[in-house]
Amino acid sequence: MYTRIDGKEVSAAVRERISSEVSELKKQGITPGLAVIIVGNDPASRVYVNNKKKGCEQTGMNSFEYALPEETTTEEIISLIEKLNNENGVDGILCQLPVPKHIDGEKVLNAISPEKDVDAFHPVNCGKVMTGDYIFSPCTPAGMVEMLKYYNIPISGKHCVIIGRSNIVGKPMAMLMLKNNATVTVCHSKTENLCEITKQADILVAAVGKPKFVTADMVKEGAVVLDVGINRMENGKLCGDVDFENVAGKTSYITPVPGGVGPMTVTMLLNNTLTAAKRKKIDN
Ligand code: NDP
Repeated sequence: MYTRIDGKEVSAAVRERISSEVSELKKQGITPGLAVIIVGNDPASRVYVNNKKKGCEQTGMNSFEYALPEETTTEEIISLIEKLNNENGVDGILCQLPVPKHIDGEKVLNAISPEKDVDAFHPVNCGKVMTGDYIFSPCTPAGMVEMLKYYNIPISGKHCVIIGRSNIVGKPMAMLMLKNNATVTVCHSKTENLCEITKQADILVAAVGKPKFVTADMVKEGAVVLDVGINRMENGKLCGDVDFENVAGKTSYITPVPGGVGPMTVTMLLNNTLTAAKRKKIDN
């Protein structure tokens, strides 16, 4: 028998705590504010931005949306970011990815003040994640750690195998698991004998971007499986990187898609925005 990790339940619990902290801050005249920049008309990005705005409303924070046309230049986005960097009511700034091809995404992310970089994508914040002394947690990895802790799943001493080495999921997840005293292996497309490695995992994280990539023969009996993948199928349904139906029976805990890791990412973004606002209070 396995337990299905309920990302919505964990997310609701964390948001309740965030809401009550926001209420306390408001009594002191501070309302946390998140500025979200979206460029162009990508429908998936629109859904993500709407979820972020909804999350702000739900937890009592302000949200400011900057919807820019497809033809916006890198310089124009940077000049908006510079304005937001200096705006007191804005505690967090993010630019929804992916940006259109003609925009230099790296330049844009680097223009966000590290103090307001609630996605934790700025090199300064990535570096802090590496040293373990960070202000803002990388959202998707932090959401996964939060879920493990909510379900009292031990991390210390366990072997965590991560498939994927992206800067936003795989690498920062490795850092957070190390901070929590796991033994970590990171795999990628050039990894040899992948199946032999994944079968050693006590905690297996799939962040590949390929539907049903992780099959039952890749998973150890009793492992914990966290599925980061969000793949849109031809029938419009979402599918994870794990072949849930065939893998679940071998696991002790597993996240579904949708309703697993996904809901946690926005919640951890809200948590980072709250952190930024609380730091402002300390500074004042
Ligand atoms: P990337 O495409 O940036 O990274 C994918 C990783 O998978 C790469 O490191 C790649 O290796 C590795 N990979 C690809 N093929 C194989 C293979 N055959 N064997 C082993 N490794 C392989 O994706 P992201 O990390 O940005 O995202 C991964 C998935 O998670 C996507 O579905 C994305 O939509 C989803 N996602 C979900 C979020 C959420 O909130 N739930 C948040 C962010 C992402 P290499 O480096 O060698 O190319």
